[in-house]
Amino acid sequence: MDCIFCKIINGEIPSSKVYEDDLVYAFKDINPEAPIHVLIVPKKHIESAHQIDESDFQSVGHIHLIAQQIAKESGIDQSGYRLLTNIGKDGGQSVSHLHYHLLGGRQLKWPPG
Ligand code: AMP
Repeated sequence: MDCIFCKIINGEIPSSKVYEDDLVYAFKDINPEAPIHVLIVPKKHIESAHQIDESDFQSVGHIHLIAQQIAKESGIDQSGYRLLTNIGKDGGQSVSHLHYHLLGGRQLKWPPG
């Protein structure tokens, strides 16, 4: 499958790995928008959060626990952070493999543009 995040998970494309287990892979965003900007992705190819079904509940729930762990290890669990996923064109999704952005290390603005 011609998916850049599948290739990162397989090791075909290099990445700055932050965490890996059987279900998820996390790596530093190549174009960080904040001092901490990590992408957390399920190893299973799911196009976006709009394609999640019951069989994905374990990996998607697990991503939230891993986000907590990464935030703690990054020293932003007390100051706060943002965990978000973009969906489709108008949602700003540029890579069609479900991924959660973990952003922190500065005051983040709301609402987004
Ligand atoms: P989105 O726009 O929500 O689909 O987010 C895609 C993210 O993937 C962007 O923040 C990109 O900077 C990031 N990205 C694209 N290619 C790579 C790569 N090879 N390694 C790390 N991050 C990447």
